[in-house]
Amino acid sequence: MPLRPDDKHELAPSPSLPNPATPTPTSASPTILPICQDIAGRVNAFLDSEPETPLLRQVQAQTRVALGVISAALERYSLPEISLSYNGGKDCLVLLILLLASLAHHPPTLLPRKLQSVYIISPHPFAEVDAFVDGSIDAYSLDLARYTQPMKEAFRLYLREHAGVKAILVGTRRTDPHGEVLTHFDATDHGWPAFMRVHPVIDWHYAEIWAFIRHLEIPYCVLYDRGYTSLGGTTDTHPNPALKAGNVQSETKEQSFRPAYELVEDKAERLGRDW
Ligand code: FAD
Ligand code: MG
Repeated sequence: MPLRPDDKHELAPSPSLPNPATPTPTSASPTILPICQDIAGRVNAFLDSEPETPLLRQVQAQTRVALGVISAALERYSLPEISLSYNGGKDCLVLLILLLASLAHHPPTLLPRKLQSVYIISPHPFAEVDAFVDGSIDAYSLDLARYTQPMKEAFRLYLREHAGVKAILVGTRRTDPHGEVLTHFDATDHGWPAFMRVHPVIDWHYAEIWAFIRHLEIPYCVLYDRGYTSLGGTTDTHPNPALKAGNVQSETKEQSFRPAYELVEDKAERLGRDW
């Protein structure tokens, strides 16, 4: 169920998950609790269900691990000390959903109105990614700080402006560049601004990310339905050649690629990235 800012009839949301494309009216609710409860209900229903496929069984196990990591982070740090690095990609989308689900069990009086989060805008952003991120702010009640500087400098500024933040959740996975040596909790490297990186989905496979998103009917960025499997900037990101459709006659180049969720191999994920 992709988010298509330009194609309203494609926006049919799942029964109760918020759709970033249909901003919710400003809620009178003082906290994010209703959003968290809604999402927790769906995640718990998934965890309680008998999985239809071996893949979904793996996803259930991965979900439990990730919720455990988030719960450990919520024990180590108070909510004002925690932020989420969110760029509208599939991995941090899963992370966002799991964080919101976890917060349904947090003491309600400690919940904020909006979730602290940070987005470093690419020098050449996709309009579709920015539209999805914009929609996420309303759908998931994000307090999203945006920066345009290079990443290291952006986080330095972010920490200066949000001095209480000590830990940032990141959607990096094992097969990403630099992902090989990471654990669930890693202090930033030498030369980076100092904070704790939390990686709840580090050991999720590509196919598990998509199985979670599709099974829970979570709206996602429309570029993924056009064959993009890893989102960077417009100058260095293309539809994944491994998803090029065989004999399909299409009017546009984009339509000749199959959707991202049809890719299976972790190592093929970044074939559409120049770096
Ligand atoms: P993705 O696979 O899209 O990124 C993986 C995850 O990183 C995303 O799910 C999201 O949570 C986060 N992310 C990526 N891009 C953005 C963005 N533009 N805005 C907000 N969040 C984003 N590198 C080091 O060498 N040492 C470090 O100590 C280090 N600390 C980092 C801390 C944070 C919070 C982040 C976000 C990155 C850090 N990096 C660090 C850089 C990291 O290793 C990747 O190079 C960077 O995340 C880009 O990843 P990617 O292209 O694989 O994108
Ligand atoms: Mg990724």
